[in-house]
Amino acid sequence: MTSDAPAGARIAEPLAKVLGTRAAGVLAKLDLHTVGDLLRHYPRRYGRAGELTDLSSLRVGEYASVLAEVRTATIRPMRGRTGAILEAVVTDGRGTLDLAFFAQRRGVLRMHEDRLRPGRTGLFTGTVREYRGRRQLTHPDYIVVGLDAGTEEEAIVEGTRPIPLYPSASGVPTWRIGRAVRTVLDPLTERDVPDPVPAELLALRGHGSLLGAFRDVHVPADDAAWVRGRSRLTYEEAFVLQVALARRRAVARAHRSVARPPRSGGILDALEARLPFTLTEGQVDVGTVISRDLADDFPMHRLLQGDVGSGKTVVALRAMLQVVDAGGQAALLAPTEVLAWQHLITLRSLLGPLAGAGTLEAVDHATRVVILTGSLGAEERRAALAAAESGEAGIVVGTHALLGEGVRFHDLGLVVVDEQHRFGVEQRDVLRTRGAIPPHVLVMTATPIPRTVAMTVFGDLDTSTLKEKPAGRASVATHIVPATKEAWLDRAWRRVREEVDAGGRAFVVCARIEGDAVEEGDEEEAAETGEVPADERDQGGAEELPLGLDDEAPPRPPLHAVGEVAEALRGRPEFSDIAIGVLHGRMRPEEKDVAMARFASGETPILVCTTVIEVGVDVPEASVMIVLDADHFGLSQLHQLRGRIGRGAIPGVCLLVSASGDDTLAHDRLSALVETTDGFALAEKDLELRREGDVLGAAQSGGRNSLRLLRVIRDQEVIEVARKDAHTLVDGDPTLAAHPVLAVAIEEWLEPEREEFLERA
Ligand code: ADP
Ligand code: MG
Repeated sequence: MTSDAPAGARIAEPLAKVLGTRAAGVLAKLDLHTVGDLLRHYPRRYGRAGELTDLSSLRVGEYASVLAEVRTATIRPMRGRTGAILEAVVTDGRGTLDLAFFAQRRGVLRMHEDRLRPGRTGLFTGTVREYRGRRQLTHPDYIVVGLDAGTEEEAIVEGTRPIPLYPSASGVPTWRIGRAVRTVLDPLTERDVPDPVPAELLALRGHGSLLGAFRDVHVPADDAAWVRGRSRLTYEEAFVLQVALARRRAVARAHRSVARPPRSGGILDALEARLPFTLTEGQVDVGTVISRDLADDFPMHRLLQGDVGSGKTVVALRAMLQVVDAGGQAALLAPTEVLAWQHLITLRSLLGPLAGAGTLEAVDHATRVVILTGSLGAEERRAALAAAESGEAGIVVGTHALLGEGVRFHDLGLVVVDEQHRFGVEQRDVLRTRGAIPPHVLVMTATPIPRTVAMTVFGDLDTSTLKEKPAGRASVATHIVPATKEAWLDRAWRRVREEVDAGGRAFVVCARIEGDAVEEGDEEEAAETGEVPADERDQGGAEELPLGLDDEAPPRPPLHAVGEVAEALRGRPEFSDIAIGVLHGRMRPEEKDVAMARFASGETPILVCTTVIEVGVDVPEASVMIVLDADHFGLSQLHQLRGRIGRGAIPGVCLLVSASGDDTLAHDRLSALVETTDGFALAEKDLELRREGDVLGAAQSGGRNSLRLLRVIRDQEVIEVARKDAHTLVDGDPTLAAHPVLAVAIEEWLEPEREEFLERA
């Protein structure tokens, strides 16, 4: 590095140039290639220093720092579960202490084994626990004399400062990263580190420079330093994200769409005259807002949130009809084939003869509603395409197939996207940008999105929320059924029998289809979009297992599968005279339709299925749901599933069968479902219970990623402040011409990731 490098050049320098090719090669394993990458690789946490403690005086529960010599260190597999454990014994010459490290992969443990060679001395810090009568530190933070510190004294001095602990990988231990960071950080000056946050804002918000923040987080003199550094970097992340969103919004607003003002005496009025229910206040309010949006020539870009069963469909239909009345067409995009058909049926039944244009039943103002999905035969497909292109079809319902190249509209005025979380922003944009003039866009989601998440992830959309549910809806009671209690399960099945006798229907939800085919989300959808839906379950493969694991826990029995469960139920005496149907993502669309229709009609009042029923499917008689291996599913997924019952007048019962013990996180999550049916409360709870990093996607946990520190719930206030600052800045400088460093930051590290969040939200 030369001292006369242009401002900011050093940040872009390859690590190989600064650290040498060997060290750089090691860091490349973490996808760290430049000085900037390395400086943005923040410590995950900090080891805490304490008073040196005499081993023989350790008390359980105390936070201890001990200087001790390694006597033994061995890795062994865990009993009855995947993963391995490294056990070490250290001594200070008087007493001994056990150390334990757990990991999914042995590689991680080998790194510790390599450092904790017998005879070496280290400074170990952590909370003392008792395990099988011996005192233990689980995953202690430590410094090894001779590796991280030259002498014991140095180790003790080092140990009085917070020890930065980096996200690491096998072969790239945290101490090695720390050393490399210090090497690149030392010679940097303020002008080497351009700051995306304008100086005025830093002053306004009481933050220091970016270089100062790097020093604070990487080589903190005390705890206050890293707290200060992280706070500044968190603000920066929120700010850059909010500027990106504000710009996206400004760009969208610069376009013009076609105004579709309401017209009285048209099909919308005709629908309202025949609706079998009164709209809720929320539906009316949201409808008014949407109607006004559509009447404007700014393209509408609105997110409609409403919990399962809140009645979003009719809101969407009213918007679509306003557009039809104004001479345009509307497209309704559903994430799955099942849902698209469901929508078609719902729309046609709400419209009745109003959907009969071109047929004998046609009435005044009638239009046509057609469907376009991947499973249509060639002939039907041609007819649907022609109806869309000619404008004859006022409403086109479809899956991802609607996004295909060959699909043309006569005058597409509105795109409604149902279940937003299944689509990425790109897909949303395909339809938006298809014609020369962008249509209005209404995005609907049943996944309640806490306000901060909405602000962080969907900041470029206006949002509306349907809060109350239509009156007259029965309630759903939820109970946890311990899988280990045979008698409880028997009772559950008897309950199903009673419900069926009373005219109800029961869903029995399984996590697997058969053998080892796990249904994660919806296979058909995955096949259609080429994406694997976001996995809501606990992230496997995390580097370190949570503390306090009992490594002798019994192995988990295989998850229940649709085929086997259906077979078993058919063999139960309670169900000897009841037909049992199955539904899962491996079935062909026609088979699924038949299965759903038989269930809806009561021909097969018990349906053993996977999560294909998760969204949208509407069977008013469905009153019981039994979810097997409930702890295997995500909280919001269970909430969605539960929304499939209690949709009519019959109160619903949802039984969550789980083998998880009372004191597990899985049990806490299920308990949250028992306690509330409010999707928003659950979404907040879910965020709270999930481990850090999962909210904005698993990608956040490591590697090269810009949103490392920001946490949507915890950092609510920061996000709000940053949003305000971002809007002020973008209003004054919409192209960011006066803020080049900020413009580069957005371009370099934000846009692609945000799209990822959208897909995972
Ligand atoms: P979601 O928001 O989950 O998509 P739906 O639109 O499917 O909810 O509505 C759920 C059910 O409630 C449907 O059967 C629908 O016909 C019914 N519904 C919608 N609005 C009302 C209302 N205002 N009064 C009574 N029932 C309604
Ligand atoms: Mg719906």
